[in-house]
Amino acid sequence: MRNLVWHILLCVALAASAWASNKVDAEQVAREHKASFHWFPVQKTFLLAGEGDTLKFAIGLPYVSSHGSSMELKHAPEITDGHILLDSADVAGLFKDGSRQSPSAPSRMTDTNKVAAASTPAPTAAPAAVPAASVVTKPKNETAGTREVKTIVIDPGHGGKDTGAQGKNSNEKDIVLAVGKLLKKELEKEGFNVKMTRDKDVFIELGERANLANQWDGDLFISLHCNAIDATPERKKQIKGYHVYVLRAPESEEDKAIARRENKVATLYGEKNAKEELSPIEWFKLEARLEKYKQNSYMFTEEMLKAFDGGKIKRQGGGVGGAGFMVLVGALMPAVLFEIGFISNPEEEAYMMTTKAQEDIAARVAKAVSTYKAAVHNYRETLGR
Ligand SMILES: [Zn+2]
Repeated sequence: MRNLVWHILLCVALAASAWASNKVDAEQVAREHKASFHWFPVQKTFLLAGEGDTLKFAIGLPYVSSHGSSMELKHAPEITDGHILLDSADVAGLFKDGSRQSPSAPSRMTDTNKVAAASTPAPTAAPAAVPAASVVTKPKNETAGTREVKTIVIDPGHGGKDTGAQGKNSNEKDIVLAVGKLLKKELEKEGFNVKMTRDKDVFIELGERANLANQWDGDLFISLHCNAIDATPERKKQIKGYHVYVLRAPESEEDKAIARRENKVATLYGEKNAKEELSPIEWFKLEARLEKYKQNSYMFTEEMLKAFDGGKIKRQGGGVGGAGFMVLVGALMPAVLFEIGFISNPEEEAYMMTTKAQEDIAARVAKAVSTYKAAVHNYRETLGR
């Protein structure tokens, strides 16, 4: 009888401790496994870098990637009270042998860039250890994101029968085309090779835009848009600001809604394989490929934030977001979708309609492209390329 009581007490204690250890602090996990921990606040991603192996996580995304391939997690990492938490069962699975050993790279990992890209923090990120240069060998064929930045693809959103969002006195398609053309001029002055998915008022399907960018073998894809909300006039006056988006799982309902609005074009005009949202399995399939360009997309995003500092249109929230924009899905290069401002906001609409504003916006984007180019160049130098 006494044994039984002890047994029950022990079970209760074990159950309680299992419950309590359901979530574990990622920094604690790093310490326990002698890995270094790197946090990238803008990207909301973090690395656990051990000897020869680096695990990359993203807040809110139930996947972990290592050496360019992704594995599913039971639970997405989360932030609670300033701590980054992982599910203990996921941690146990990832660190099966006490300390994680370097897995041999999958055979399809012939592109050594990928290892460097996955395990090396962006040069603009928080101070972090640069992995031994010896693991980086010169790749045979450098691809977008790792080579010098030369070809920029500008994608003015919408066009033709698709007006995009409509303001009181203007259409999104016209504002983004005007900015796009000015941006082309600015970038050509800087010596870039510039391509535009459209340079007149024509309709182009979302999928075709990325195809064109791939055909041109671009180094950076910039899709230009204007934001809008459907709300009361009072609310329309309040909601304003620019936002730079990269392709990644959305973290807020607002970001999700913006992607849905931009993606609607495809379903509206009967584009093949059109959909307004990516399913979790589609995200999973995309993850390894995204991994290759995500870091550079964020590098460019950071340059955009710097370039737009002091501009008339201010950041909306943090100014950076992620969502499933279909126009970015097919692009095999670093890519962003830039929501210049809110066409539904009377003040921002009036401003964006002026040539002076369009010139200022184009000049700021061009500046961001130039500083991004320099950052990529410096990054390559640190890798000895
Ligand atoms: Zn748009």
